[in-house]
Amino acid sequence: MKTSVIGYPRIGKLRELKFAEEKYFRGELTERELRDTAEALRVEHWRTQDAADIDLIPSNDFSFYDTTLDAAELLNIVPARYRELGLSPLDTYFAMARGYQGPAGDVKALAMKKWFNTNYHYTVPEIDDDTQIKLVGTKPFDEYAEARSYGFETKSVVLGPITLLKLARFTGTKTIADVEADVAQAYADIIAHLGHLGAPWVQLDEPWLVRDLDADDLALVRRVFERVLANTGSVKVLVQTYFGDVRDCYDLLAELPFDAIGLDFIEGTRTLDLVRTHGFPKDKLLVAGLVNGKNIWRNHFGKTLDVVDELRKTGAEMALSTSCSLLHVPYTLANETKLKPEYAEHFAFAVEKLGELHELATLLEEDDPRASQAFVANAQLMGARPDKDDAAVQARVAAITDDEYTRLPARPERERIQKDEFKLPLFPTTTIGSFPQTRDVRAERRALKRGEVTRDEYEQFMRDKIAACVKLQEQIGLDVLVHGEFERNDMVEYFGEQLNGFLFTEKAWVQSYGTRCVKPPIVWGDVSRPHTMTVKWSTYAQSLTKKPMKGMLTGPVTILNWSFPREDISREESTKQIALAIRDEVLDLEAAGIRVIQVDEAALREKLPLRKSDWFSEYLDWAIPAFRLVHSACKPTTQVHTHMCYSEFTDIIKAIDAMDADVITFEASRSDLLILDSLAENHFETEVGPGVYDIHSPRVPSTEEIVDALHKMLAKVKPEKLWVNPDCGLKTRGEAEVLPSLEHMVAAARQLREEHQA
Ligand code: GLN
Ligand code: ZN
Repeated sequence: MKTSVIGYPRIGKLRELKFAEEKYFRGELTERELRDTAEALRVEHWRTQDAADIDLIPSNDFSFYDTTLDAAELLNIVPARYRELGLSPLDTYFAMARGYQGPAGDVKALAMKKWFNTNYHYTVPEIDDDTQIKLVGTKPFDEYAEARSYGFETKSVVLGPITLLKLARFTGTKTIADVEADVAQAYADIIAHLGHLGAPWVQLDEPWLVRDLDADDLALVRRVFERVLANTGSVKVLVQTYFGDVRDCYDLLAELPFDAIGLDFIEGTRTLDLVRTHGFPKDKLLVAGLVNGKNIWRNHFGKTLDVVDELRKTGAEMALSTSCSLLHVPYTLANETKLKPEYAEHFAFAVEKLGELHELATLLEEDDPRASQAFVANAQLMGARPDKDDAAVQARVAAITDDEYTRLPARPERERIQKDEFKLPLFPTTTIGSFPQTRDVRAERRALKRGEVTRDEYEQFMRDKIAACVKLQEQIGLDVLVHGEFERNDMVEYFGEQLNGFLFTEKAWVQSYGTRCVKPPIVWGDVSRPHTMTVKWSTYAQSLTKKPMKGMLTGPVTILNWSFPREDISREESTKQIALAIRDEVLDLEAAGIRVIQVDEAALREKLPLRKSDWFSEYLDWAIPAFRLVHSACKPTTQVHTHMCYSEFTDIIKAIDAMDADVITFEASRSDLLILDSLAENHFETEVGPGVYDIHSPRVPSTEEIVDALHKMLAKVKPEKLWVNPDCGLKTRGEAEVLPSLEHMVAAARQLREEHQA
């Protein structure tokens, strides 16, 4: 059986590409040197895959920033404002990716968005009325030829035409219909060109096809691919789907003249059923995504073989593949020196997944694969995962009762009680939690890790920071204060490190976008809270002021969404365990005298299923109750806040209200306040603090500007429900801009109060 890899991590084993690019940006590396580093990485990646006997090794999966941007550039989708800078092609590319400010001009970067249901972000291509879509670039050809020159035959990977069209932003009057023919022609040209080079395979990535598709979408897919595939010559075309199943277009893909169809059997809950009930065309290769490209657990050979057995019954010719690009997992376990072997043997990062593909393919050649040594060893491994079960946690989850999902009294009653309890002014002011994480703060945390300062010294340092932060907020005149979150490296890692059930890695970086990588924790076993996590800091901060001090926690959905989840229990089950741990912390904060508690669900929206039809049944129906579980036992006088980073929740507004928080703050300043209409239309009950200024920029907003934003908000939100706060945490900002920004914010709130009293 053949093996195929959809894409490989391009950042390098130790993030070499990131560091080289950052040097290039700082002018410490020439373009030639950067290109040499990139070439060396590509060659190493091909060599590694070749050594693992992978048959269909990808090329053109490399990128200096993002492969969606690469596809746009390849097709001449480069807005004029970037061309007009007159920079080199590479710098024009980086200008689109990161923006440019310098002697040649001043342009912002193209927009960036989350890549389907992953934590990776792609650059949004921009098509305007002047865009002439045609094949102008050579990247896939160059990289194919380069691989060949090193002795590697590869499958050239390009983002597919449908996904490109659907992800692009049309900024003029043109729509997809106006450009689809040009796009299809450009892809036909790409294939023809690969044919001249003698390339055997092209893989067109079409993750868009796993979404809900209507009749118009299907017609588009048909029209575009009939054109793309009209004359492919000697090049075989693989349409590669991932992140779900293609239930809406399975028959269409089977009918179109592709040579191979790549299907995801991991996230595609219906993929196996589709193949079983509809059959698979005899003239095509089935590229079966059975090795999870998104999670870090070893493949369960028993489960994989069961699927393969089913697939073999259809008589289809098959290749074994990753379920998506390996871009979404860390590079290699070999970098981890501290993970105990009895844990580490349960993981497979990118390099180890190559080994799994090879092992599975070999084993499948045998007469009785289940009798093979590799199979037996794998079965043993699956049965032996130490320290994962905690009977007490499982019993506690099983014993959750329905009323634990409901906080009483109901919100309107609580609102009255809390108005009386806090006697806050109209338009209360607050912040989202973090204050600038300055160099000294990060240095102190590092020093503690390295044992250069004692615990006591460290804690004294943090107390000083908190005291200064509280004093600053009192001077500014904020109403509900925060302690500043100086002790936290990251809003998920901080809690994961203190909870039972999490594991941490040293070098398991995953690309988030461009040169940015994240190192998600791993949920290893049942989660519980051995001790309080934040009470010490919050009560200290509260002791310094008479104003209410917000306790700051991260919510269960966000903690799980920004970690590698378990595969032996459901996400729902894991979320409930984490929710119970956070619930305990909430109650301990309350008992210690903290009267306002914020539980951040920054990532709640992110993991909405790709199909709208699955939103409730597969996600919101348990994610929202999990949040309620966190705060349902609070006293009516305790004010529960939550915070979400994206304002794009118009379509789930009822679900957000059903979180039953007392106050929600969210990003709004960059979204034209569109969300406000929807709040009004849906009679949103939760008190709201739509961010009054953008914290992602160092710009200091003026008082007038904030007053203006508040006026707009007041057109849609009742005055007694409106809070005044920035968009998000101030962690990444400098102290210099934070002070005047918050002063202007408080001044704006005061001005509004006067207007309302008058
Ligand atoms: N409380 C967190 C902070 O202020 C929230 C961060 C976030 O929403 N991403 O940093
Ligand atoms: Zn935020």
